[in-house]
Amino acid sequence: MLFHNAELITIDPVIRPVYLEKNITAFALRLDKCDPIVSGNKWFKLQFYLEEAKKENKKVVATFGGPWSNHLVAAAAACKNLGFESVGFVRGEKPEQLSHTLKTAAAFGMELRFLTRECYAAEKHAVNKQLTTYTIPEGGFGLLGANGASTIANFFNEKDFTHVLAAVGTGTMIAGLAHSVQKTPLIGIPVLKGKLELEKAIKKLAPTATGSYQLIEGFEWGGYAKHPTNLLQYMNQLFATTQIPTDIVYTAKLFYATEQLAAADNFKKNSRLLLIHSGGLQGNQSLKKEELCFPLAGL
Ligand SMILES: *Cc1c(COP(=O)(O)O)cnc(C)c1O
Repeated sequence: MLFHNAELITIDPVIRPVYLEKNITAFALRLDKCDPIVSGNKWFKLQFYLEEAKKENKKVVATFGGPWSNHLVAAAAACKNLGFESVGFVRGEKPEQLSHTLKTAAAFGMELRFLTRECYAAEKHAVNKQLTTYTIPEGGFGLLGANGASTIANFFNEKDFTHVLAAVGTGTMIAGLAHSVQKTPLIGIPVLKGKLELEKAIKKLAPTATGSYQLIEGFEWGGYAKHPTNLLQYMNQLFATTQIPTDIVYTAKLFYATEQLAAADNFKKNSRLLLIHSGGLQGNQSLKKEELCFPLAGL
């Protein structure tokens, strides 16, 4: 399956006072540039699931997520592109006002079904049994997702960097990277609390990974999708100095954490950091336009 916009991915310098002061160079792998919707790591995580669905001649792709799930929108857009019907199971009651993410998913033809907590598990089981439907696990979490994410490493040469840093949600991306980034230490920044659970999840997907990875907690900003004003201010500052837009859920927390770690001397002089910009910019659409100094990406 062709990844049509791979040529748009670049490695850009991240020039910030703290890096200059500490004699560190930082770069961003701009996976966000490849597509405004199926942006960042989501295409990589989806590609092998969708390939398998094609091979098995499935007509419908079903998957699961919350109301702000980048995964759901990415799946909706990718399915439309590849000629699958798509169904998105969304946790919770149907809200009066759909989130921007869900509206976008629906605009790509995804049929949304809202499930209460009790129905969620039962429904998951039922969909798995439908013969014409291919099910992608919630958030793309699974071995095929990790295999897909491991191909992100094709876009850089690990020898050029002393550390590779990435945001961690389900852990699928970092598990994949742990397979393909062999020598350079990987640092994962969880965007939600529960490091032990995450470590277990990553182990499940990367039992034989040879690369070394470490999760550094403390940069959740209160939890998943929480985005206090200070974080928005940081995003605006970062954009003003680097022209790099970040998203409120994942990448802003990654860029911020990396600066804090540098300030606290976690990296030696002359370190060369690669931050994986894993996309997710469509999530900023839940903000008001005036809150960010760069355009809210998406439709
Ligand atoms: C989903 C997502 C992640 C987290 O990836 P996991 O594989 O779930 O750990 C990071 N960044 C962005 C922008 C995402 O959308």
